[in-house]
Amino acid sequence: MKIRQRLALTFTTLTTVILMLFALVAYYAASVAREKEFYNLLQKEAITKANLFFNAGIDAFTLQSIYHTNRKILNEVEVAIYDTAFQLLYHDAVDIDFVKESPEMLASIFSRKMLKFYQQRWQIIGIVYQYQGNSYAITAAAYDQHGYNKLHALQSTLILALLAVIGISYGIGWRFAGQMLAPITAMTLQARKISATHLNLRLPIGRHRDELAELAATFNQMLERLEHSFEAQKNFVSNIAHELRTPLSTLIAGLELALTTSQTQQDYQDTLQKALSDAQYLAKIITHLLDLARAEYDTTQIRFRPLRIDEILLDARQEILQRHPDYNIDISFENEPETEEQLLLEGDEYLLKTAFANLMENGCKFSHQKCCKIKLSLVEQHPVVEIMDEGIGISPEDLPHLFEPFYRGANASFAQGSGIGLSLVQKIIHLHKGTIQISSAVGKGTRFLITF
Ligand code: ADP
Repeated sequence: MKIRQRLALTFTTLTTVILMLFALVAYYAASVAREKEFYNLLQKEAITKANLFFNAGIDAFTLQSIYHTNRKILNEVEVAIYDTAFQLLYHDAVDIDFVKESPEMLASIFSRKMLKFYQQRWQIIGIVYQYQGNSYAITAAAYDQHGYNKLHALQSTLILALLAVIGISYGIGWRFAGQMLAPITAMTLQARKISATHLNLRLPIGRHRDELAELAATFNQMLERLEHSFEAQKNFVSNIAHELRTPLSTLIAGLELALTTSQTQQDYQDTLQKALSDAQYLAKIITHLLDLARAEYDTTQIRFRPLRIDEILLDARQEILQRHPDYNIDISFENEPETEEQLLLEGDEYLLKTAFANLMENGCKFSHQKCCKIKLSLVEQHPVVEIMDEGIGISPEDLPHLFEPFYRGANASFAQGSGIGLSLVQKIIHLHKGTIQISSAVGKGTRFLITF
């Protein structure tokens, strides 16, 4: 069942239940009022007839003929008068005698002074009447045809009104729900149009600042992020293809040339040396890409365990020096930790080592002296790593883009690279709930600050 139908039905049910309760209360109140009114009438009729019988001295025959005449047109009250000895003094219609007065009933009237009860649907009242110092029990009985007719009319009106209200409230509910859900319908229609090729489309937010507008805005923000990452993904793939194609092309061209022309031993060795360096560069790019994929998408593969940050730094330095013996990397500890635990960090050994090695390599790579300095310190019990060089520095225009994959600064021609390193470093640091900041001045050097 659609929400619109469900809302309309809920609205109708609620309205019906409330109206039904209202109708029941109204009917009950009318029924109680009818009963009370009719007992009052019976009481008045009993007293009037007793007055006529005792005070006015009208004989029983006259009274009975009035009763019989009225009975044909009116719902006449049947009255009977008894004395304390339970002797019947007067009866409107002994032939009909609807109320069979028993001595117990009469005794009860004398003792309680008033008795009210039903016999079938007839209402009966018994009262005590005083005349010349004697007590008499008078019973008056009648069927409240008029009252019951009114009650039936009320019942029919209430039922009809209820049926009408059910129809009207369903109509109103349906319309109202339609209006409320119109933004959702509009969103659904628009969302159907959004696909990978139409990620620029957005959902309508509507005029009201309500929950649905909030939902549409949130959805649009999500689309915005999706569009960006989709765009980045597309660029990423073409960048990878480009990065791999260039060294592969030079590699192939060099090897083809060596095969087609006869060369000296030295030339062949040079070609092979060049091919090896191209292949190593390709392997490095691929390793970086794999690390990036691991840090970004394949976090299930990452096993966090307590690591000593100083050991990670020393290992990274070792790795770089093995690859570049001419590099100079100096590691110092600012404030010696009191306990070993202070140097512990929950992390992935391989990824952290890769990140620091990248920063150390960049520091040396982009400085004439091929050296960089690492400073490890503890700030409020948290390890802070600074990687500084006195190299060529980075221009302010490049700084905001350095962490974008494949971005290389204006200084890139100074050293070979692919532009993947820093984006990988940032991913790894964020994965370890750390932050990375960069400050640099052209010609003076660069400083990376990492806090965990
Ligand atoms: P790559 O070093 O392979 O070019 P990175 O992602 O590691 O890629 O670095 C991106 C760019 O940031 C570099 O091309 C360079 O322009 C700049 N950069 C990074 N580190 C330094 C540094 N220590 N000094 C100067 N420039 C740097």
